[in-house]
Amino acid sequence: MLCRSVAVELEVTKELNKLLHSIEIAYLNIVREVVEYAVKHNATGASQLHRLFYSKYRQEYPDLNSGLVVQAIRQASEIAKSFMEERRKGLAYKPYPEVRSVSLRFVKTTWNYEQFIKSIAPVRIAISPISTGRGVSGRFEVWLRPHKRFWQYWWRVLRGEAELASTLMIKRRANKWYAVFVFNIKPREEEQKSIIAFDINENTVAVSRVDLPSTVSKVVNWNRQYMIPELYTIKTDFGRLARRYGKIRNAIIERLKPGFALPNGNYVNVTSTREFRKRVKRLRERVRKVGRVRQVANELTRTPAIIVTEELGNNPQESMISDVGKGELRHRIKQIPFKNIEEVVEDKALERGSKLFHVSSYRNSRVCPIHFTRLEGTNDWHTLQCSLGHYVDRDYASVANMMWKVTPEGWVKGVWWNLRREINWREYEGKSNTIIPYEIVILLQHIMENAKASLEQSPAVLARGKPMNPARGANEGRAREKASL
Ligand SMILES: [Zn+2]
Repeated sequence: MLCRSVAVELEVTKELNKLLHSIEIAYLNIVREVVEYAVKHNATGASQLHRLFYSKYRQEYPDLNSGLVVQAIRQASEIAKSFMEERRKGLAYKPYPEVRSVSLRFVKTTWNYEQFIKSIAPVRIAISPISTGRGVSGRFEVWLRPHKRFWQYWWRVLRGEAELASTLMIKRRANKWYAVFVFNIKPREEEQKSIIAFDINENTVAVSRVDLPSTVSKVVNWNRQYMIPELYTIKTDFGRLARRYGKIRNAIIERLKPGFALPNGNYVNVTSTREFRKRVKRLRERVRKVGRVRQVANELTRTPAIIVTEELGNNPQESMISDVGKGELRHRIKQIPFKNIEEVVEDKALERGSKLFHVSSYRNSRVCPIHFTRLEGTNDWHTLQCSLGHYVDRDYASVANMMWKVTPEGWVKGVWWNLRREINWREYEGKSNTIIPYEIVILLQHIMENAKASLEQSPAVLARGKPMNPARGANEGRAREKASL
């Protein structure tokens, strides 16, 4: 199920504002205490924590609606669980998770859910954050300030394409209160119109696209000349962006330094000062990056497609920089939002009826996609040379090889030139047909073979330029292991 949450500002009276603040404090206290206990005693189970803490907090906060106590304990269990998971992976460095803020969770019975979902154009909610004893609960009506995005999702609810989740979250941000509605959207079932492989690089995303004939039966009389994967790149400039912002940040540090000099001649760490943070915030680096990530995701998911991409590890940057050393390049690689692009694409893909298929990244840019021979490095990092003589652009080789990996040819050859590694057939059993229908796999095989045949005569299509500039910034365009073994 696909989730979208939409925050809508609440028109809160002074009285309710005060009340929500005090409820937030109580709620946060419960979450913090339970999280600490759970992590310390390695007891993260929700029902176990409920048994241990529910009556304690009912007594401590008799005015709090019992539904909120239940939710606070449950939320603590979730936070503790994910913290333990992070710690298991070695990603958490603190002894306890730091719970800075919470969103108050109102379950079905603590707000007017039933009434709300029957409305054609809901404009207010009623919440019951406190209990006034004897099962009577204090009920507050609050007006919403709905916006376009909310109406768009509400429209989907009315058309039966989405459902409103019964839990409502109330959240404070910069002294304004928001209701967060969660919509469960039914993924679309669409006929796939193309197969797209993409590969994320430092400054570009390389794309290979094959448009599928509307029905597979048309394959018999397809027009061969159109059946060659299209290769292109989307400019992202994440690396350049990182470099530019790095320079600006350094300039800010230099400018601020004199103001933070210590008597002994040293400087306070400028980057941890408020002044610095304020100025960096104004640069809007994150906003720009997020914008570009969305742009890439939109381009890749425009039409329903089978999207093929590399299997990234949990921390793709780490494996890339292991042999890069310290310094600027390392910083730039860390700035490329690999995981983020993958997640946004996956999310958009699901919403728009596309499907994502992962292939192993093994030797994607070390094999000639035409001859399946080993590629050697040239003095231009972008360009590789096939042992048969022609040049291949590294990015294009990579996406073309991803396409091959979907086909039976790819499974058989797996590693393509002399098989040094046994193929684990079990790994591929069943896997092949769950996402990509068998006919399409066969079709792609034909298309790739067709492309191969025509490219054998003019492999220049796969090369973007000749390697004439000697070692221009060695690793500039692609932060990955070198081509030669
Ligand atoms: Zn070749």
